Amino acid sequence: MIRLILFFIVLILASFAAVWMADNDGVIAVQWLGWHIETTVSVVLVAATVLYLVLIGLVELFFLVLGLPRRLRQRSALAHHDKALIAIADGFSAVAVGDGERAERAANNVNRLLGDKPVALLMQAQAAGLQGNSAKSQKHYTALLEHKGTEFAALRGLLTVAQEKGDIHEAISLAEQAFALQPTSLEVGVGLLRLYKQTGRYADAQLFLEKQGKRLGKIGNGKTAVIDVSQEKAQVYTARARHLLFTQGSISGDNVLSDAVQQSIGWLESALKLTPDFVPALQTAVPLWLKLERKRKATAALEKAWKVQAHPVISALYMTLDSTADKPSGGKQDLKRAKKLYALQPDSVEGARVLAAAALQVDNITLARQRALQALSGAKTAAIYRLMADIASCEGEEAEVEDWDMRAQYAPSGAGWQCKECGSHYAQWDVVCGSCGAVSSIAWTEQAEATDGTEDGPLPLADKGGEEEDTKKSTNIGIES
Ligand SMILES: [Zn+2]
Repeated sequence: MIRLILFFIVLILASFAAVWMADNDGVIAVQWLGWHIETTVSVVLVAATVLYLVLIGLVELFFLVLGLPRRLRQRSALAHHDKALIAIADGFSAVAVGDGERAERAANNVNRLLGDKPVALLMQAQAAGLQGNSAKSQKHYTALLEHKGTEFAALRGLLTVAQEKGDIHEAISLAEQAFALQPTSLEVGVGLLRLYKQTGRYADAQLFLEKQGKRLGKIGNGKTAVIDVSQEKAQVYTARARHLLFTQGSISGDNVLSDAVQQSIGWLESALKLTPDFVPALQTAVPLWLKLERKRKATAALEKAWKVQAHPVISALYMTLDSTADKPSGGKQDLKRAKKLYALQPDSVEGARVLAAAALQVDNITLARQRALQALSGAKTAAIYRLMADIASCEGEEAEVEDWDMRAQYAPSGAGWQCKECGSHYAQWDVVCGSCGAVSSIAWTEQAEATDGTEDGPLPLADKGGEEEDTKKSTNIGIES
């Protein structure tokens, strides 16, 4: 609007000037190199204006022509850039869906468009990895190590390649470098800890947990804890103690007070301080404490653990507390101890089973049956059926004995340490499964009959119908298992 007004003002001024010039026109005459020009001042002014405008136009045109190649180059570069971006997007989406061939094509495009840029190398490495070409993948990741800012991605990639190739020592070295570079990468940290455990490098695992445990145990993304640090430490301390005891000689003989034993006990006590009911630590520590005549320590630790978890290994260890090398405990002493254990956890079926067994030893059949029935309300294992059979036998109930024996025969008896990955059974807990190599996969399993909802009361004696029913039940169980 303002421009329009200005334009009109200029126009009016120009027309005034033109009118004024028409009224006050004069004559200009030029005599130059034999030329003679005579004209009015108005014509000269108009000619000068036209010449000025033409010159401006020519100058603009000159610069326009001069800048053309650069603009063309810019346009071509933009098109190139767009193509590269499309190829990058295509490549990474191919990687995301695991399409190695498409990723490789896209990677080659990116490489052609951008040259040996980190993004092209990364895509080429991932494409090769997807196609199972670990040598090529390794080559590209190694090249990527040279670029600043992509070192971590390169180490992560090389770590994956090393693990795929089963080169565990190389994997540890790469994971250590990657974690040192980016200590916030919890995934790498947890992976490194697993590798330490897998290779039996418990000292490194322990040091790592002591230094980084706080960070790793931090609540990941605000919701779930990355790892249970106390549990991890308990595992590593226990594994380290057991490894040392295994390599430095057993606990028997004169080496009871050896440095290795002292050191091992220290680690086991650390494990139990963190996780009082960590059964593998108790299983190793209790015999050591008894050797060192620290029965009170062993008793207190077992009672503390039992209150957290009424575990059959804990009760078994508790029942050995009164035994010595020369004289195994038994009879009334066992009953007293079993009663003490039972009183600590009166609702525990395992405590009831132990007390029933101890009562049976001293022929206290009433107590034995009472507690055995309580135990029977829990896990239906072969052990509890055998105990029922023994009680019935003491009572002279032959038909009942037969029935419990039958049940025991079909009941699962596999309580013990088992690998969750491959199902292998072990007499002792370990960090690594010797069968399949899985880490932290061995756990206590209590195999028991599936509860079918029927009550296992005392069997009706000399009742044909009842017997038939029970036989049928046993057969069914046999088929199921
Ligand atoms: Zn296994």
